[in-house]
Amino acid sequence: MTIEKRIAELKNTIPQHVTLVAVSKNQSCDRIMEAYHAGQRHFGENRVQELMSKKDHLPADILWHHIGHLQSNKVKFIAPFINLIHSVDSLSLLNEINHYGIRNNRVIDCMLEFHIATEESKYGLNLEEAIRILSSDQFQLLQNIRVTGTMGMASFSEDEDLIFNEFKTLHDHFQTLKNQFFSLDPVFKDISMGMSGDYKIAIRAGSTMIRLGTTIFECKN
Ligand SMILES: *Cc1c(COP(=O)(O)O)cnc(C)c1O
Repeated sequence: MTIEKRIAELKNTIPQHVTLVAVSKNQSCDRIMEAYHAGQRHFGENRVQELMSKKDHLPADILWHHIGHLQSNKVKFIAPFINLIHSVDSLSLLNEINHYGIRNNRVIDCMLEFHIATEESKYGLNLEEAIRILSSDQFQLLQNIRVTGTMGMASFSEDEDLIFNEFKTLHDHFQTLKNQFFSLDPVFKDISMGMSGDYKIAIRAGSTMIRLGTTIFECKN
């Protein structure tokens, strides 16, 4: 199947309220353009250098997402154009993004990353830490960022119940934060969860944004 057919098929099967982010890391600009011609506009990259080297060769109406861990010292490169930063897990990173939001005279959308998997990880918050960030005086001062939701990755496992429960946990964290901090804020609305191997489970658990690489790009042409 071609990339174009794969995208068309995905758009037909995923619910309307779910945004498809095509994860184009390790993919050439030619292959990205195949997806673009199929109408795909949301693309995700996890390495700033790779994103910067591709971006200028691609159409300006692509909405770029940064997925995966972002180092503070790389924020300045993507701040002028990035559509959404998925994996923010500290107040200091939010602060840095806000700083470059001010410099670029824009408000930058971010999501809070949670650690929901059984595997050890340096990255991702727990609920308590997220509440601490959102309750802090420092957070209230950040006018050039917006928190649009929560993001997470499930365990690499064959156990569908385990994966579903982890996604459900992320969904519950979203709801808790929504109730406590964003009940009047329509901007806080998204749950970024689901990759090629588990996006169907993620959608069942309430995902509004799936990040698919392999299933789009590793198809046979
Ligand atoms: C690579 C990556 C994806 C896409 O993974 P696939 O299994 O290829 O769909 C999604 N999210 C993050 C954070 C990634 O790094």
